Amino acid sequence: MSKQKRFILQESEIPTQWYNIQADMKTKPMPPIHPATREPLKVEDLAHIFPLECCKQELDTEHAWIDIPEDVLEKYKYYRATPLVRAYALEEALGTPAHIYFKNESVNPLGSHKINSALPQCYYAKQEGTTNVTTETGAGQWGAALSYAAKVYGLEAAVYQVKISMRQKPYRSSIMRTFGATVEGSPSMSTRAGKDIITADPNHQGSLGTAISEAVELATTTPNCKYTLGSVLNHVALHQTIIGLEAEKQMAMAGEYPDMVIACFGGGSNFGGIAFPFMRHNLLDGKQTEFIAAEPNSCPKLTRGEFRYDFGDEAGYTPLLPMFTLGHNFRPANIHAGGLRYHGAGVIVSQLIKDGLMHGVDIPQLESFDAGILFSRTEGIIPAPESCHAIAAAVREAKKCIETGEEKVILFNLSGHGLIDMTAYDSYLSGDLTNYNISDEEIKKNLEEC
Ligand SMILES: *Cc1c(COP(=O)(O)O)cnc(C)c1O
Repeated sequence: MSKQKRFILQESEIPTQWYNIQADMKTKPMPPIHPATREPLKVEDLAHIFPLECCKQELDTEHAWIDIPEDVLEKYKYYRATPLVRAYALEEALGTPAHIYFKNESVNPLGSHKINSALPQCYYAKQEGTTNVTTETGAGQWGAALSYAAKVYGLEAAVYQVKISMRQKPYRSSIMRTFGATVEGSPSMSTRAGKDIITADPNHQGSLGTAISEAVELATTTPNCKYTLGSVLNHVALHQTIIGLEAEKQMAMAGEYPDMVIACFGGGSNFGGIAFPFMRHNLLDGKQTEFIAAEPNSCPKLTRGEFRYDFGDEAGYTPLLPMFTLGHNFRPANIHAGGLRYHGAGVIVSQLIKDGLMHGVDIPQLESFDAGILFSRTEGIIPAPESCHAIAAAVREAKKCIETGEEKVILFNLSGHGLIDMTAYDSYLSGDLTNYNISDEEIKKNLEEC
């Protein structure tokens, strides 16, 4: 057997269209609902918040293939295609007969997959005459990507970063400022939503929910300003399908097809990005790949949440989305995987899970870092705490193969590197890291209260 580890695409082989899975779903996702009128949302209802083209993509259930704008494709080529890697050393360390592959989305100057959507969102905003963009960020990966993309397209960026993450990962704020963005900790005193949250709880550490409220408020009260979101929404997952479309070609180069596709899950963009192009073959060609979304056990919306309409943010500014949720007021524990601390889940993935076509697993914090350390020591890449959840889920599956002797082909997405998350690793290595468990009562209580 060839020992080639990396499968590389030529520039000319980079896909030129994104894949919109909504077009191929037999049961379409239920529509987002306008919070005031309670009517299904129309493109016009979203267009005062997001760039128009993103709104159209959000609600498009017809077109399976969407052209990537030429200019965005050129910018993609700064760092794409990303490598697909066969993790021989990890397989060997585990002693598994499984074949483990990972798609390495950490190899771009920003360090995560988020840049794949930041570029098109800023491109469309610029095309439409916008001058300013706002956003929220948790760990700071999205904020960093957005700040860079805004600079590329000559836009001013204002970022609300979750307070606790700002403290845990101060260098991400530095990165955003280096690219010229304004960064504020959320909840802040600069918006009505922030003031209300702080008034109710002066010690609120912030969450993606609070930061989204603030960024949306700033966008809707500032002329020529649009809001951008790094996860959850359909158009974000659409942009991320570049990951899976490349991986499809690279798996073919490796002469294999995945039995399982795994990614970590915050709002679902990197998971959807790698999963949807393969799910397409389940939907259309009878393939039977298994899709596993790995979430933290302290924020278990997919495995223990409820499917219902809920707000995407803490203050209730966003449309109501039909999704798996823990309730929009849910306060996730302060785990280091900041990007996974979100109460809800993307609408498309929620529908696919509801239909039994995908499923979630929940991973305790310590298990995620066990896997991250093993991966670092075998593959030489220090993974983001978020990505550690995907690795842990892949390791679980690879260990099952030891028992059954099956040579399953496992593909996971390495959504980012952890070089700016070393405080988390220090804490793990010194034995200070803990698991956070959440009881059924707590989950039930929170859902009843929203
Ligand atoms: C933001 C982030 C995530 C979680 O977001 P998704 O939309 O669920 O993909 C996962 N990994 C990394 C490295 C991130 O930055």
